[in-house]
Amino acid sequence: MHHSVKYSSYKELLLNSTWMNHALLKQIIGRIAGQKKMEIKVAGYSAQQREIYQLSVGSGPISVMLWSQMHGDEPTGTRAFFDLFNFLQADDEHDELRQLILSKCTLHFVPMLNPDGAETRQRRNAQGIDINRDFLQQQSPEAQLLTRLHQEIQPDFGFNMHDQEALWSVTGTKKPASISLLAPPADDQASVSPNRLKAMQLVAGIHEILSSGIPGYVGKWSETFEPRAFGDNFQRLGTATILIEAGGYPGAADRQYVRELNFKILLYALEQIATAGYQHQNVVAYHQIPQNTKELFHLLIKNLLLPTQAGIIKADIGLNHSHNFDALPLQQQALYAIQDIGDLSTYNAYQIIDAQGYQLEHALNLCDLANFTITDGLNNTYRFQNGRIILTPKFE
Ligand SMILES: [Zn+2]
Repeated sequence: MHHSVKYSSYKELLLNSTWMNHALLKQIIGRIAGQKKMEIKVAGYSAQQREIYQLSVGSGPISVMLWSQMHGDEPTGTRAFFDLFNFLQADDEHDELRQLILSKCTLHFVPMLNPDGAETRQRRNAQGIDINRDFLQQQSPEAQLLTRLHQEIQPDFGFNMHDQEALWSVTGTKKPASISLLAPPADDQASVSPNRLKAMQLVAGIHEILSSGIPGYVGKWSETFEPRAFGDNFQRLGTATILIEAGGYPGAADRQYVRELNFKILLYALEQIATAGYQHQNVVAYHQIPQNTKELFHLLIKNLLLPTQAGIIKADIGLNHSHNFDALPLQQQALYAIQDIGDLSTYNAYQIIDAQGYQLEHALNLCDLANFTITDGLNNTYRFQNGRIILTPKFE
């Protein structure tokens, strides 16, 4: 990875804590519009007539199209785009790298394809349509726009930026899938066309650079062909397309860390495209990336004594945030609901309470918000009320 590129120098500070809605996007684009290099235009409009922008930069023969937030509640890729714009606009010791990228490539960004969904913090557009299942029917204006842009640009490379639930983990590591990658298949056989081969090689390289920084935190999405999705179809149409999903990372529920990873991935990938360095990657490395799986809870209470109709048993309790998606603001996501009860020893969690010697005071029900108390008989107590932890032992 570009160890010499200091991310904090380029991080777009306006996007640090605020939700990435359309008004904020417009504000930042308005500021960029006065700067050199970048060409900005309104490419089209959402169902509720919000502007969808296209930002283009570079003069090279290799065309690259990058789009984000087609799911309105998945803002991490959009944030990383603006960090990357700051890098591309700067004049500093990295001029050689940015000139390499901008002279070999022409980059076309579509940040926030679904501004109506971003406004209401939901996946779907204002018509209730999942844009990424609308390639075939083309019923949403956002799907029509993305398709038209793809036809106009005819990109050699495509980057499809998403967020995934924090509960996705990596097979074999039980770590969160902080980044998941895929060169989407273009048919049921997951055939390797020339452009898909390039995408697989790029993904193998991205996995390699991430593995030195966050080993075990990188997964691969399912290779099942989805005929209604954009990535699969752009791959079919000859664009070397890469899916990048930002996920959870321990202690970083605000997704600022995976945003930084997105920035580094994109910068690395663009350099590889500019130099054709990806061609040295072996696709075996792509196939060796472990699959995404779900072996995580937000909170796991282990070894608890549980009163049941057939006596006291030992069991674990797995709890997840009732809003199952942690890109939401913290106050909306912090309610715990009971997801599973029993032997959960094969699972990991963002937070673990070892409740050895603790007993549950009352019975509890699957799927309910957490409303229970556990004590160890020595005045140490955890109490959950309406999904929140309201009491923990004093020694903690
Ligand atoms: Zn998505």
